[in-house]
Amino acid sequence: MNVQEPLPKEYQGLEPDELRERIQAAKRALGGRLVVLGHHYQRDEIIEHADYRGDSYKLAKDASRHPEAEFIVFCGVHFMAESADILTPESQKVILPNLAAGCSMADMASAFQVRRCLRELEGVLGPLEGKVMPVTYINSAASLKAIVGERGGTVCTSTNAPAAVRWALERAERLLFFPDQHLGRNTGAALGFDPDADMAVWDPAKPLGGLDPDTIRRSRFLLWKGHCSVHMRFTVEQIEEARRRHPGVRVVVHPECRREVVQAADLYGSTEFIVKTIRAGKPGDVWAVGTEINLVNRLAGEHPEQTVFCLDPEVCPCSTMYRIHPSFLCWALESLAQGRVVNQVKVPPEIAAPARLALDRMLELAG
Ligand code: SF4
Repeated sequence: MNVQEPLPKEYQGLEPDELRERIQAAKRALGGRLVVLGHHYQRDEIIEHADYRGDSYKLAKDASRHPEAEFIVFCGVHFMAESADILTPESQKVILPNLAAGCSMADMASAFQVRRCLRELEGVLGPLEGKVMPVTYINSAASLKAIVGERGGTVCTSTNAPAAVRWALERAERLLFFPDQHLGRNTGAALGFDPDADMAVWDPAKPLGGLDPDTIRRSRFLLWKGHCSVHMRFTVEQIEEARRRHPGVRVVVHPECRREVVQAADLYGSTEFIVKTIRAGKPGDVWAVGTEINLVNRLAGEHPEQTVFCLDPEVCPCSTMYRIHPSFLCWALESLAQGRVVNQVKVPPEIAAPARLALDRMLELAG
């Protein structure tokens, strides 16, 4: 986790109304020098200040639309700010209001582990060109995207994952997909691959990923043993319960959910897909949604003509996204307005250059 200095005392314990007014005043003072991006999983008190809202893929593109802005304040998590820094010109500064806002899934794969995995695979398969194509989910550190870029692979998003998987399998016998095993499995299964026969899970804590050489040789998908703690909370039992209580309900979930949950749902897709699906709903529609609670509650509030609720009755928000508290946003914006750049996320050039190759491929493979 990145280290965040404690907030200056004057920002601690401010009332919500004062925070709102000060954030708005700082935004006015910065004017066109500033763009604020808000991920869908942020709380409402942050989203109300966002110039753009979206999932990580959409925000990465939104960031590149304002080359004139000096500051991009990214209300999201660390890997998103890194991607924005890589995709924007050198003159722009990307700010993460709280450096401790990471992603537990992204932390499940390190550059050291991925390099070791590739070395071990080489030991079994020989030179990896044409044998293994690395594909990393956008939810990963820039150092992992750099490894993928060096090896000719691509970054994928939950939107373009099918295109990325097809692209990878046209170029190699198998792909190494990290860090989220569930997105890899759900995508491969939707393309007609058998999760049991064609896929194996690589456990980075074990030698050779806990696999035997024959399993590696016959697998088309090597899925990193990583997951999202938020989307793992959703279960088939919750779907059955929603259908019992709300006849006619439709269930829509994110592909970071387990395979059986995706299979049991009526629809699944990226965060943007979920947003668009509910926006396109009709009065009286009933939706049980399997994704982060801040987004589900916001959709429910924006669509009073429909019934929208979270599949998990004991939901908790994404705890890392939640670290972007309005007091951190206020501090970051007021510091910028006073000429002090705080919490800049800067990817070193030797990592940014190869990571950019993998991110550019992602943009080309737009789903
Ligand atoms: S919801 Fe899951 S994948 Fe998204 S930032 Fe939180 S922990 Fe990471």
